[in-house]
Amino acid sequence: MFDFLAKKFSSIFSSLSDKKQLDEKAINEVLKQVNEALLSADVPYDLVQVFTASIKDEMIGQKRASSLKPSEQLMKVVYDKMVAFLGEDGTTHFTPHIPSITMVMGLQGSGKTTTIGKLAYFLQKEAKKRGKERRILVASVDYYRPAAIEQLELVAQKAGIDFYRATNSEPISAAAEIRDFAKINRYELLLLDTAGRLHIDNQMLNELHAIDTNLQPKHKILVLDAMTGQESLAVAQAFEQAVGFQGAILAKSDSDTRGGAAFSFRYSLKKPIFFIGTGEKVEDLAQFHAKRAASRMLGMGDMETLAERAEEKIKASEQQTISNSWEKGQLTLDDFAQQMDMLNRLGSLSSIMKYIPGMGNQLPPEALEQGQSEMKRFRAIISSMTPKERVYPRILNDSRKLRVAKGAGVAVVEVNKLLTRFVNMQQYAKLIRKSGGLQNFFK
Ligand code: GDP
Ligand code: MG
Repeated sequence: MFDFLAKKFSSIFSSLSDKKQLDEKAINEVLKQVNEALLSADVPYDLVQVFTASIKDEMIGQKRASSLKPSEQLMKVVYDKMVAFLGEDGTTHFTPHIPSITMVMGLQGSGKTTTIGKLAYFLQKEAKKRGKERRILVASVDYYRPAAIEQLELVAQKAGIDFYRATNSEPISAAAEIRDFAKINRYELLLLDTAGRLHIDNQMLNELHAIDTNLQPKHKILVLDAMTGQESLAVAQAFEQAVGFQGAILAKSDSDTRGGAAFSFRYSLKKPIFFIGTGEKVEDLAQFHAKRAASRMLGMGDMETLAERAEEKIKASEQQTISNSWEKGQLTLDDFAQQMDMLNRLGSLSSIMKYIPGMGNQLPPEALEQGQSEMKRFRAIISSMTPKERVYPRILNDSRKLRVAKGAGVAVVEVNKLLTRFVNMQQYAKLIRKSGGLQNFFK
């Protein structure tokens, strides 16, 4: 979702990087490009006009901040405006009341059922971080889509969340039955899946309205499919008029879509995007942060999310071991292997690079793929070394190299490649130690 705009903006900004000054003519030229980028990302025309006009006002009215180059100055203005469009941080998080019912709505196929599993999983994970266990129940009143209820049951199983099937199959009475079941069994959170249609349809909206009146759920969330672009605004407006909702979850943000929906939803509906769906698995849900989203759309990466991901997947003790060995300037091949393992746990190289400023759009996919398979080979090579070889790779003579290569199922040149790479890394480590540790190195 972010890549399309990130590519466009990166090239706009880099075309300015050697300009000493931005006069009105140059600003207009840039804004024309911004205009085109947003329109091609499927942002509605009038919104694009509002957006570019606000940037122009700011740029022309602004005194040149002496420390910033024109390209940086423009980048900052565009970034600030984009954050304003996407919503300030801190006000957009979904924290359900305890106890409460959350009704989840959306068109058929938008991602409701999958999202409910993810949301339940997320809420439980957050509770556990605070040492609590939440009683969460999921249930469905989708009697239209074949096997929709079984699908929810399966998703709940994967998320480790309780599921209830109503005996009633008329949506409004089923919803009441589910509410009673949750109450009697003292569930703290009930997430209710509802039926959607392929298009906005009055019968669907009437049914949702009736369930809403009957159950009075404390929270209502709309799931939007990021792939539908501009059209999702009409969907959101129809749901808002008929039923109303507090905020949206943008599913399928990992898909090859252009980001128009995210950009325009908040501004047009004046409601927050709580989460974005980032894949099909239960853990693939991320809280939406306006600043991080703006940063990624402008090709500036998102180190905060990457750091959080690292924190979740990599134990602090492991991080410490690695940074100790770096700081001592003594890296072994075991450290090297451990680092590759940690990186792997964060995701594929191509998915990680998107978060690193300036990297996401520059490395061709083939290079990333190559890096990924090289890492796998290196890992196999290190595994087939003896512990002593890993600490003193110097002892690797030709016959040892041959043995290691055979064990890993690679050619000897690959072993040599790894060793060269390793020597380079050791030199870095020494450099880091000389400059007084990692902290200083990255300053
Ligand atoms: P519903 O009809 O609204 O309940 O939609 P579903 O939950 O059945 O989702 C429709 C399809 O979209 C399924 O194949 C899901 O696996 C897929 N899907 C849902 N959310 C995401 C997401 O965030 N990323 C990706 N890649 N696929 C998703
Ligand atoms: Mg469904």
